[in-house]
Amino acid sequence: MKVLKFGGSSLATPERIRAVMDILRPRLEAGERLAVVVSAFGGVTDSLVQMGRLAEAGDRSYEQIAHSFSQRHLDTARELLDETHLDIVRPQLEKNHDILRNLLYGVFLVREASPRTMDYILSFGERNSAFIIAHALQQLGIPAAYLDARSCIKTDASFGAAMVNAGTTYANLRDVFSQCVDLQIVTGFIASTQRGLTTTLGRGGSDYTAALPGAPLDTEAIEIRTAVAGVLTANPHSLPNASTTPTPTQPTRQEPHPFAPKVT
Ligand code: ASP
Ligand code: MG
Repeated sequence: MKVLKFGGSSLATPERIRAVMDILRPRLEAGERLAVVVSAFGGVTDSLVQMGRLAEAGDRSYEQIAHSFSQRHLDTARELLDETHLDIVRPQLEKNHDILRNLLYGVFLVREASPRTMDYILSFGERNSAFIIAHALQQLGIPAAYLDARSCIKTDASFGAAMVNAGTTYANLRDVFSQCVDLQIVTGFIASTQRGLTTTLGRGGSDYTAALPGAPLDTEAIEIRTAVAGVLTANPHSLPNASTTPTPTQPTRQEPHPFAPKVT
C-alpha cells in the first residue's frame, strides 16, 4: 500500500480538488492500493483558530467567519457533487456546522477556549474536507470511504499537540486496513484520547497522520503532496528568499567540480 497525503493548498478550491482526483483515478485504475490522508481546505484551520479566539474574547464577529466557513464547505460540495451525492453530504455538513456554531456560542458565553475545546473546534476542518472528498470520489465510481481518524489514532490528553499511543494506534490501523476494500479517505491532523475526547497532533499534523500507517502496515511509500512545484531550499514562510532546487526537468548549468581537470 502507498499513503498519499494532500495538504490544504492542494485542496484550496474545487478545481484543485478535481486535480487531486485526477491524480488518484489513473493510479487506482492501474490497480495501486492506496490510502489518502487529507488536510482541511487551505486556510480553514487558521479561520477556526480565529473563530475560537474571537468568541473567547467576547467578539461576536466570530459569527461572520463561522458563516463563511459553512458557506465555503457547502459551496465546494455543490460545485463537486451531483444532487444524489449532495443529498448525503449536505445534511452531514449542516450537522457539523450546527455543532460548531453551538460550540462557539458556548465559548463566547463562558469566555474561555481551553486547548481541549480548541481541538474540538479545529477538528471540523478535516472532518468536512475528508467527507466531501470521499463522496466526490464515490461519484466518480471509486469505492471510497470516509475514515475519521479519531476512531483509530489514539493519543494522550496533551491537547493541541497530542502524543500518539503507538501500540493502540498501530493495532487499530492494522484492523481497519486488513478489513477494508474501499479506498480510505482519512482525516489528517485529528485523533482522540482513549476516552474518546478529540485531540490534534499539532499544526501541520496531517503529515504525521500520513506517516503513522508506515510502521504497522505493509506500506511501500508515503507521498506527501503539496501544491508547491519542486523542492525548496528552505521553508518559504521563514525564508522568503528560498529558491527551488533543480530537478531533472529543470536542468541548471553545472559548475565544474573543483578538482576536475582543467580543460584548456
Ligand atoms: N489543517 C491542519 C493545519 O492547518 C493540519 C495540516 O494541514 O496538516 O495545521
Ligand atoms: Mg500542511
